[in-house]
Amino acid sequence: MSIAAESAERATGWVRRGVRRFGSAWRHSLQFRTVLITLGLSSLAILVIGFTISFTVASNLFQGQVERVLGLSSTARAAAQASLDASDAADRASVQAVTNSAVRTVIGVSGSSDIALFRTPDTPAGSIAPPDFLSPDLGGRISAELRERVQGNPEGQYWQSIELPDQNGEPAPGIVVGTDLLIPGAGRYELYIGYDLADTEQTLAFMQLTGAVGAVALIALLSAITLIVVRWLIEPILAVAATSRRLAAGDLGVRVPAKGEDELAALAEAFNGMADTLQARIRDLAELSVMQQRFVSDVSHELRTPLTTIRLAGDVLYGQREDFPPATARTAELLRTQTERFETLLADLLEISRYDAGSVELESEPTNLVHLAEESIESMRALAADHGSDLRLEAPGGHLDAEVDPRRIQRIVRNLLGNAIEHGEGRPVVLSVDSNATAVALSVRDYGLGMSEEAAARVFDRFWRADPSRRRSIGGTGLGLAIALEDAVAHGGTLDVWSREGRGSVFRLVLPRVRDASVRIVAPLELEPPDPDAAGPDASGPDAHGPDSAGPGVPAEEVRDA
Ligand code: ADP
Repeated sequence: MSIAAESAERATGWVRRGVRRFGSAWRHSLQFRTVLITLGLSSLAILVIGFTISFTVASNLFQGQVERVLGLSSTARAAAQASLDASDAADRASVQAVTNSAVRTVIGVSGSSDIALFRTPDTPAGSIAPPDFLSPDLGGRISAELRERVQGNPEGQYWQSIELPDQNGEPAPGIVVGTDLLIPGAGRYELYIGYDLADTEQTLAFMQLTGAVGAVALIALLSAITLIVVRWLIEPILAVAATSRRLAAGDLGVRVPAKGEDELAALAEAFNGMADTLQARIRDLAELSVMQQRFVSDVSHELRTPLTTIRLAGDVLYGQREDFPPATARTAELLRTQTERFETLLADLLEISRYDAGSVELESEPTNLVHLAEESIESMRALAADHGSDLRLEAPGGHLDAEVDPRRIQRIVRNLLGNAIEHGEGRPVVLSVDSNATAVALSVRDYGLGMSEEAAARVFDRFWRADPSRRRSIGGTGLGLAIALEDAVAHGGTLDVWSREGRGSVFRLVLPRVRDASVRIVAPLELEPPDPDAAGPDASGPDAHGPDSAGPGVPAEEVRDA
């Protein structure tokens, strides 16, 4: 690229950056906007007023000057004419002398040395008629039109604007006044007196400069005042905004300092009142929540002992069921399954209340997630076989170790597998494991019932079930996914779901390799499957330890991040 093209590109870059910065400041800063608008409007107003004043003053000054020089030249002409009329010169030399004296009178009275005296065309060039006289500065500056008018109207007075050199020889605006003189014995002469208006122009220029400096100072002052006023007004609003941010971040004790009795103080007071109410409400709710958690925890603990007794008694009855009549034997079986369900529910409730109380401690150790996945699959094989589902593992290999609590991760995977089998309609269930530098991921894909968007959005809620009346074969409590999510979050990970009705679901667990908040986690597996509409994995599809078939997919129809 040539140097010119490079610098043009650099300049375009600067301009673009400048425009972007300006746009951002305009959008984000009320101060910037207000100052800029004030600056723009006051500049416009001052410009209009300045031009009007300057124009009026200039034309008044000029008008005054015109009247002054017309007066002066009229007096000068009258004086010169009087001296000419008083003379009785009859010969050439004395007519010349009297004319010279008249010209000196004109110079003296008019105050101008730029004089011209021309014989009119109707004055015969007789022997005693004095020759024309022309000051050098006036040479070529008197227009033919002015001369015609002076020639055509004896004793009339006319003027025109001309350019005359000032004292320094610089061109300056001027006026030339034309009238006539009657020289006795010779005839009528045109008399022109030139006045330069350099002083007037200087006065006007000085005034304009003073006006311009004043205008700039006024605009700067206005901008500074606007900035101060806006800042003064905005500061309490910024304080309220900062306080609301801290409040939203959980700092419930923070308040806006309220000073005075004006509208801003009213805003601060109203805000503080709202914060007080909010704090009281949240405290009440927190207390209530703690009470509820404690209640659940206490009840669960209290129920354990009687439940153990019931279970032992039930086991005894179950062991002897063959000796009972069929109806009683069936009751013993029912008692046993329901007691088991009760125990699971109690265990889940206790686990959830441990999370609520913040008393969960992970027992993390370096764990190979492929081995963990294999073990989970093995433990679920019997259930899968009951449902006619084929369990497949898909793990591309690589570094699949992570620092996790294996017991909890296994519980998550078993829960996901159990759900996939339960809702998988006898179709295959694929467990994928993959990793990258920052994280490991496990996903469980089934091709079964799937869920609606609303159902997928609620799937991690406690005790929530899409269809509570559905027959359960593994005795789910509705707490499985809620606990799984707590487990994932406790590891600094995520658990999310993709689901489509009639097409199955994908639950994806992503766990950071190491707990470090500064590392940006990139999920090693896509949430949406590459085959969202497939009714099952194809024949060449995933096998245990087969190649990774997961790839980037189009945006999910029903995706929920947990
Ligand atoms: P449980 O399985 O004990 O009912 P979970 O918390 O594990 O509780 O699941 C909650 C609900 O989410 C289930 O009752 C079911 O309706 C829905 N669900 C979970 N996994 C799937 C899945 N793979 N396919 C369809 N629905 C599912």
